[in-house]
Formats: sequence, structure tokens, C-alpha cells
Amino acid sequence: MQTLTDIVRPAPESIGEGDGVFISTYGCQMNDNDSERMMTLLEMMNFRPVTSPDQASLIIINSCSIREKPVHKVWSEVGRYRKLKALNPKLKIGVAGCVASQEKGKLKADIPLIDFVIGTDAIDQLPEVVTRARQGEAVVRARFEHQQPYHVETMVRNPGVSTFVNITKGCDNFCTFCIVPFTRGRERSRPLGHLIDDVKRLVDRGTREVTLLGQNVNSYESECGTNFAQLLARLSRDTGIERIRYTTSHPKDFTDELIDVMGEHGDKVMEYIHLPVQSGNSDVLSRMNRGYTRAEYIDRVERIFARLPQAVLSTDLIVGFPGETDAQFADTMSLLRDVPYETLFAFNYSPRPMTKAARFTDQVPDEVKSERLNHLLGVHREISFELARKYVGRTLNVLVERHDAETGRVVGRSTQNKSVYFTGTANLIGKTLPVKIHEAFPLVLNGEATA
Ligand code: SF4
Repeated sequence: MQTLTDIVRPAPESIGEGDGVFISTYGCQMNDNDSERMMTLLEMMNFRPVTSPDQASLIIINSCSIREKPVHKVWSEVGRYRKLKALNPKLKIGVAGCVASQEKGKLKADIPLIDFVIGTDAIDQLPEVVTRARQGEAVVRARFEHQQPYHVETMVRNPGVSTFVNITKGCDNFCTFCIVPFTRGRERSRPLGHLIDDVKRLVDRGTREVTLLGQNVNSYESECGTNFAQLLARLSRDTGIERIRYTTSHPKDFTDELIDVMGEHGDKVMEYIHLPVQSGNSDVLSRMNRGYTRAEYIDRVERIFARLPQAVLSTDLIVGFPGETDAQFADTMSLLRDVPYETLFAFNYSPRPMTKAARFTDQVPDEVKSERLNHLLGVHREISFELARKYVGRTLNVLVERHDAETGRVVGRSTQNKSVYFTGTANLIGKTLPVKIHEAFPLVLNGEATA
């Protein structure tokens, strides 16, 4: 297994002791995790994190391609640093993340203020890339190393009570709206033994909960054929971790075996399941290349509730996918009544470069998309308040993550992934306590500890 010392070359002379680095992070938890990894590597090169770009001699924009106009966003952020660069010619600006993987050398050619471009597959090369950039070289590292095994150690400077652990990277599904297979490459899984060692190390450093991360965690497969359900069982049994969460799931790969393992290890594997459906209409799902029908999705949900009656579901929805008719949108609305989603993340469809759906000619007008989205969010708001009410009067187990000195309250998460606030002191951080809920909102619960 590659270790930190294998990855980090000795600090080169060109790097000043304690130079400031500012990382600006956009997008998903994968990017948050990559930024943490980059910061760890840079700290080992004697950089120190700073909170403002004007204190930095290295700025990295960790970009995201999921939302609209991603290149434009990079362009405008780099533009904001033009003055800093004029004041400090030694300042280096790098772009990482999905836009870097997507645009590669073109990004550097189009925006000359950028000193280096580093793709999502090249993060471990950051020390070398930064060194070269500081020596005046224009560096672009954005190729995918498809053959390279996915061997990384979880790098967190100060692992918290709850820590993310990557288990897969990339995706092979090619949903027609999604750019991820082009920006994160083909799917690769980390070896089982490495993951077990990684989680054990985190437990030794005080982590109580891990969230396993991947674009599609359900298709995890280790080099020896261990699948995701078996991975959950092994981590539950062999690492000493108190709680396990995971995201993101793909409904087509959500197996009965996984449901059974969640039931068997319900004391460790949390019952919150994010199960992105994207649309409630089978024809739209087919054009999205999702690999399941509405009926198959509902069947999966029923199987989950049959074995895990306490399960809590959330989902992702795309509104106004090309060709979506009023009737097809009505199917999405009716799904909200059929499946009790406590949380949902809904967005208007917007075309992404390289994706198949961007070439579909029957794009839905923006005003129609917005109207549908507002309607959907309004209806779901009522549903989510209704669903939240069931928590009032219940006692939930809460793992405390933070203390707010101003309010004298602590916040932690329940097994259902709700943020729970209650009166408490900082020494409760890292402890799991029963909390009786007296007020409930869709994402936040207020209560008092009963012990
Ligand atoms: S499963 Fe589909 S939506 Fe998810 S990352 Fe892969 S291609 Fe994108």
C-alpha cells in the first residue's frame, strides 16, 4: 500500500517554510475529500493553510462540473486573483477537480494566469506538480490512469468524530446527463485489506463514524471479489468503528444481500439511505440510461422497508430532462406520494459537455423547468414537515460532533442522519447520547439529552 512517505517527496528548496496555501472547494463530498488530501500533502511540504487568498502564495481552485457554467466559474475566480498575482509574482494558481480533468491543457491555454492544472486522478502528484510550477514550468496532469490500482490512504490532517473514506472512484454507468465518467474516469475500487487498515487507523485516531464514499458505492468490488455488502459486514466486524454510513447508492446495484447485511449489522450500519431516483417515469429513466424502471425502483424500496422498517430515505431528482412531458413530470410528482423521502435534492436539468443528453434536440424550455421545480419543491416541503413530526417525543441516539460556545448547545447526528441540537458542553464531543426530541424540522431536530 502506498503510504504518505511514498507519496510525498522531500520538500524542495524552492518551497518557503510556512508559505500559505488557500484551497477553494466546489461541489460534492468527493471534492471536499480531495481538498483535504491536497492540504495534507501540502502541509507535509511545509505549506500552511490560510483562510484568505491574499495570505497565500499558492491558490488551488478545486472545481466542479456538475452545475452550470463550470469553466466560466473558474475563469471568474482566477480573474479575482489577477491583482494578487501582480502584487506577488511568486503566487502560483492551480486548478484541480472535475473542470481540470474535463478541460485539461485547454484550461491553461485559455486562462494564462493559471500555472498548473491537476486532474482528479493526479492528486498524489501534487507535490511534484507544485514544485515544477514554482520553478516556472507550466504543468498539466489530467490524464486518467485506468490501469493503475486505486491505492490511496485516507489523508485527513485531524480526523474528526466523523470522517469520509473513499472506497471507489470513477463511474462506468454513463447516465446520459452526467459528466462524472468523463471527469473521474472509469470505476476502480480500493483493495479490501487497505480499507480495513484505513478504518482501524482512523478509529485509533478517535474517529467514531465513517462515511464510505464513491460515485456508486454499491458496485464496489475488491481485487478478491468482495462486494459492497460483504465490505460493510467486514468493516462492522473487524475495525472497531461505531457507525458506518455510505453514499452514493445506485438503485440498480442495491441488492437484497446489502439489505440483509444492513439488517444484520443494524447496530453499526446506519439506516439512512440516499437512493437517487432522478425521475418517476420509466421512459425518462430509460433515456437517462439509469438501468431500472419506476416499478423496479419501487420494488427495491419495498424490499428495503420490509427488512428495515426504520429506514430513512432521501433522493436526487432531475426536473425538465430533455423531452420530459407534463404527464411524465406528473409521474415524478406521484412518486413523491409513493415513496416517503424525508429529504430530496432536486435540480433543473442543464446540459453538460460530452454527455449524450446535451445532444438531445428536445430540450425543455427553462421557464417550464423552473415552474415544475418550484411546484415539486413546494409539495415536498409539506411532505417533509409531515414526515418530520414522527420524531417529536422519540428518543434518538446522537453522536455529538460540535459544540457552540455562544448558545451552549451541542450538535450531532442521529442514526437517521438528522442534525440534532441540545444543551451540552464541549466534553460531549465524540460521545453517543440518547436525546428526547421536542421540536422537529425536515433536517434539524431539537431536544434534550436524557442521560
Ligand atoms: S451513476 Fe450515473 S449519475 Fe451517478 S456518477 Fe455514474 S454516471 Fe453519474
